[in-house]
Amino acid sequence: MKQIALLAASLSVCAGAAVADPLHVVVTFPVLGDFVQRVGGDGVTVTSLVGAGADAHVYEPTPADAGVLARADLIVVNGLGFEGFIDRLIAASGSAAPVVVASEGVTLQEAGGHDDHDHHDHGDDAPDPHAFQSIDNALIYIDNITQALCGLDAENCDTYQARQGEAHAEFAALNVELHAALTKAGAQDHVLLVPHNAFAYFGAAYGLTFEAPQGLSTESEPSAADLAALLRALRDEGAAAAFPVSGASDRLVARLAAELSIPLGAPLYAENFSAADGHAADFIAMQRHNVGAIIAALQGE
Ligand SMILES: [Zn+2]
Repeated sequence: MKQIALLAASLSVCAGAAVADPLHVVVTFPVLGDFVQRVGGDGVTVTSLVGAGADAHVYEPTPADAGVLARADLIVVNGLGFEGFIDRLIAASGSAAPVVVASEGVTLQEAGGHDDHDHHDHGDDAPDPHAFQSIDNALIYIDNITQALCGLDAENCDTYQARQGEAHAEFAALNVELHAALTKAGAQDHVLLVPHNAFAYFGAAYGLTFEAPQGLSTESEPSAADLAALLRALRDEGAAAAFPVSGASDRLVARLAAELSIPLGAPLYAENFSAADGHAADFIAMQRHNVGAIIAALQGE
């Protein structure tokens, strides 16, 4: 009797798998793709509009992108103004797919460590959109994505929720590991310089302050007065190290690091991944790489 029930159960699983095509999920950039793949597994195929290594801030959609969106079952975006191109592109595509704002529910964090300096006048009192840079927020993204997949595919919701649980366990362990590494290295409470404000959430999570000449996006160009004010603030604050970000110019931070005589570390990953065989090919590797690069620079390696 038990065997018959098992046989029936396995038959129905096979039948379900045979008829159900994977959901086609379109995301704006690879970090979201990692999260969707993690929860969706073989129940989804994921297409990222912005490729690995590209700059999501200045991305210019192609005509093919509208076609990709038109065929989507689900569209996942960061929100918080991160993808300036997306609303018009979705409208132009005629897509009727639901759009999930993955950052919904995060506690917003303003960029920069302080509000009093005049170099914060160039419009960056808006919240930092790079909310996925804290592991706690990344889990809110995972939860929103799980809910959306369950809404579209109730039959496999248990499987999605099981993977959501695995992600929570894995990310929580990563958080403990990175906190311990930074504490052991005495890396907390430092002021660090990056090109654009992509690390307000990461900094808040780990007790680091990030300053940036370019505000919230790689698009903006600081004025000479902004730069002079930033240099003064960095001297006052005792900035400890500077870092380029992968995929964007290191010209400004290299110049500021030279003027301040502070080390220029390895590039951090703000919103894109390395190539698949590189050292930051997914979210977990990216977080580990960024923490490792910060520790190495602060220890003068
Ligand atoms: Zn960015």
